[in-house]
Amino acid sequence: MEFNIQQVRNDFPILSRQVYGKPLVYLDNGATTQKPRVVIDCINNYHTSLNSSIHRGVHFLSDQATEAFENARETVRRFINARHAHEVIFTPGTTAAINNLAFAFGERYIAPGDEIIVTEMEHHANIVPWQMLCERKQARLKVIPFTDQGLLQTETLQQLINDKTKLIAVIHVSNTLGTVNPVADIISLAHRHSIPVLVDGAQSVQHLSIDVSKTDCDFFVFSGHKAYGPTGIGVLYAKEKWLEEMPPFQGGGEMVDVVTFEKTTWNELPFKFEAGTPNYIGAIALAEALKYLTSLGAGNILEYEHQLLRYGTEKLLALGYVTLYGSAPDKSSILSFNINGVHPYDAGMVLDKAGIAVRTGTHCAQPVMQHFGIDGTIRASLALYNTTDELDILADTLQKVKTMFG
Ligand code: PMP
Repeated sequence: MEFNIQQVRNDFPILSRQVYGKPLVYLDNGATTQKPRVVIDCINNYHTSLNSSIHRGVHFLSDQATEAFENARETVRRFINARHAHEVIFTPGTTAAINNLAFAFGERYIAPGDEIIVTEMEHHANIVPWQMLCERKQARLKVIPFTDQGLLQTETLQQLINDKTKLIAVIHVSNTLGTVNPVADIISLAHRHSIPVLVDGAQSVQHLSIDVSKTDCDFFVFSGHKAYGPTGIGVLYAKEKWLEEMPPFQGGGEMVDVVTFEKTTWNELPFKFEAGTPNYIGAIALAEALKYLTSLGAGNILEYEHQLLRYGTEKLLALGYVTLYGSAPDKSSILSFNINGVHPYDAGMVLDKAGIAVRTGTHCAQPVMQHFGIDGTIRASLALYNTTDELDILADTLQKVKTMFG
C-alpha cells in the first residue's frame, strides 16, 4: 500500500484539534500514541453491541466476545510471529508484564547468589522489578554500560556472563536515546550459555518489524497504548517451555483447572497466566491497532519515520546550540536533546504554549541521565503521522526559547 501521510493523518481524529488556539503538534509518542478511528470505533462498537464477559458465559454475546478475544490473541501472534497463540499472554501493559514475569521467573529459577543482567539504558520498568527480585532472593543485578554515542558495549557482556547468570533483560529501542539494540546478537550469545533473554519492546513494536521466532527471544513485552491501541492492555510473549515451567503470577478465576481447599491445579496455557476477567475489549482493540499497522506496511512506516528522524536531526543540529543525546547508526525516531543553557522544563513550557507536546525530564530512565550528568532532556518522539512541517514548527519555537532564556 502507498503511504499517504495526509490520509494517515485523517485516520487520527485528535490530530485536527487545536490547543491554545494553535494546531496540535503531537511529539510525545514515546509516552503514548494517538488512536486511529478504527481503534476508537472498535471500542465503541464493543461497548454498544457486544459487551459480555468472555470464556464464562454460554450465551450468544459471551460466545461472540470470547471468539473476538481469541482472534485478537491470534492477531498478536501473527504480528510478532510467535509459534503459538498460547504463548501470547494479555497483561495490563509492559510494566505489569515485566513485574509478573519477575515474580514467576524468580519463584521458579532464582536462588541466592544468582545474577541478572540489564543494561544502563533500561526504562525503570525493566530495572526496578529485577532489583526487587534480587532483593527478595539475595541475587545480584549487573549492568551492560553504553557509550556516549548511545551504543551498548556488548563486548562487555561476555565478561559479565558466568554460570550464575539466569537472565538478560534488554530494551529493544531506547526510549531516551532511540538506539535500536542488537538484540539478535545478544540473544545468540546468551543462548550459547543457555541464558534466556527478555526483550522490552515497548518502543520497538510500533516502529520495527518484530519476529520473536527469528530473533529467538525467550520473552518479549509491549504496551498497547504506545502502539496505537488502548491503555490498560499489553502483551507478555513467552516461549511455551517457560510458561509450562513457571508458576502462575496471580491466582483467581479462569487460571485454574480444579480447585479444592486442599489443592488447586492450573488451567492450560495461556489461561494459567490470565487470572480474573481480562481487559478483553482492550485486547480486541489492540488487535485492530496492529491490523492497522499491518495495512500501512512495516517497511513503509520504517522508511517514513527514518526520513522524519533524519530531517529532525538536521534541523536541530542546524540551530547550533542544541546538544543531542543518542546518535547510534541504527536509531528509531526519538530526538532527545537540550538547548544549551536552558533547563528542559522551561523549554517544555514554551513549546506547550505553542501547541507542541513533548516530554521533558528523565523519561523514567534516570541511569541514562546519570550517565550524561544531566537533570533531564527534551524528548520529541515521532510517530508515523508526524510531518516535516511539524518539525519546522518545533525548530522555530526552539529558536524563540533560546531568545527568551539563552
Ligand atoms: N519500557 C519502555 C522502553 C518504555 O518506554 C515504557 C513506557 N515509557 C515502559 C517500559 C513502560 O510501559 P507502560 O508504562 O506502558 O507499562
